[in-house]
Amino acid sequence: MNDPATQRLLEIDRAHIWHPYSAMHSELPVFPVESARGVRLYLADGRELIDGMASWWCAIHGYNHPRLNAALESQLERMAHVMFGGLTHEPAVSLVETLLTIVPEPLQSVFICDSGSVAVEVAMKMALQYWQARGQGGKQRFATLRGGYHGDTLGAMSVCDPVTGMHRLFTSVLAQQHFVERPRSRFGEPCSDEDIAPLAQLFAGHHAEIAALILEPVVQGAGGMYFYSADFLRRARELCDAHGILLIADEIATGFGRSGKLFACEHAPIAPDILCLGKALTGGYLSLAATIATTEVSATIDAGDPGVFMHGPTFMGNPLACAVARASIELLLESPWAARIEAIERQLGEALAPCRDLPQVAEVRVLGAIGVVEMKRPVDMRTISRQFVDAGVWVRPFGRLVYLMPAYVIDAADLDRLCAAVTEVVALQPR
Ligand SMILES: *Cc1c(COP(=O)(O)O)cnc(C)c1O
Repeated sequence: MNDPATQRLLEIDRAHIWHPYSAMHSELPVFPVESARGVRLYLADGRELIDGMASWWCAIHGYNHPRLNAALESQLERMAHVMFGGLTHEPAVSLVETLLTIVPEPLQSVFICDSGSVAVEVAMKMALQYWQARGQGGKQRFATLRGGYHGDTLGAMSVCDPVTGMHRLFTSVLAQQHFVERPRSRFGEPCSDEDIAPLAQLFAGHHAEIAALILEPVVQGAGGMYFYSADFLRRARELCDAHGILLIADEIATGFGRSGKLFACEHAPIAPDILCLGKALTGGYLSLAATIATTEVSATIDAGDPGVFMHGPTFMGNPLACAVARASIELLLESPWAARIEAIERQLGEALAPCRDLPQVAEVRVLGAIGVVEMKRPVDMRTISRQFVDAGVWVRPFGRLVYLMPAYVIDAADLDRLCAAVTEVVALQPR
């Protein structure tokens, strides 16, 4: 039972606060969290939950990490924020220095912004300005894969999957982009000619109007938790080069180890012309993202008219967020992250395998520290979220997808409890 203070908090929340993709006056439960440490969420009613979500790909080191707390505290003593126009500072510079040691070599020009969606808008604008500067201003459209997700702002939405992204609600407002089927070849399989054909045909017919191909390399996240052939990515890169089309890799979800490589592009391996990072960039502490372009892209924009890149958010390069991001990357690189993620991958594969035999389940798939149980029917959010909390875990499905993406520091016992809870709760769903 909740105490009166918590009761009041819930009433105000219900009356006045929107949650992600929710109604203002929603019947769905929200659970008040008082604190979080490691892979545990502590609820106001005294219950503790093992976290299976890492707060949507972000909290890769677990919550309340002493190293990350210390980085924030020491930066706070110097300054929380200063404008980035005409000023610079050590947290931004050392973050960029660190990033440049891990991203593919040709990527050298960094735009530090405030969220993933903004990073995608920035990437799209870079591509448009690049072609304008090259005298090919007719290149104004984007190509993308069905089943993708790139954020919630209007530009990013225009390249989200038209069905799951609900394009019908915004048809007259969204820019019309070119969608091709996502590859049928799965991760680990070669890409067939048939699989690459739709992209090849699109490029052959429309290259004069396409500025860039934007995609989530290898792992499509919020659009469907789908793992596709890395060989497709390699062939898509070749097609982009052959047709004069930039490649934007949206690694906002996959960056920093989640798929088993530091960046999912490494599975191919390819280097994009523009890379978007976010989510785990700050280890889940603050909103921060980065769009990183090749020198070819940045120098071309500089040489064009008006000779500047036209974007500059108020909180660009926020020192607190940069300081914690730098500490998070250091922590990751010092840790045996690859071995940890391999162990998580193995354990997810074994412990979720029994779900395959359940009549409710269509497919089970695992890649890196991502485990997905795809149901035959959409889950009922109201029942299933309570069932997971009652089972002592924090798992938040969407549509037909029940999935786990735990912090890399989760131990085998906690991961077993998470997987056992998924198996139990999935078995409780109607067939
Ligand atoms: C989450 C996500 C975004 C949007 O990031 P926000 O920080 O929520 O704006 C964009 N692209 C991908 C692949 C994502 O997973």
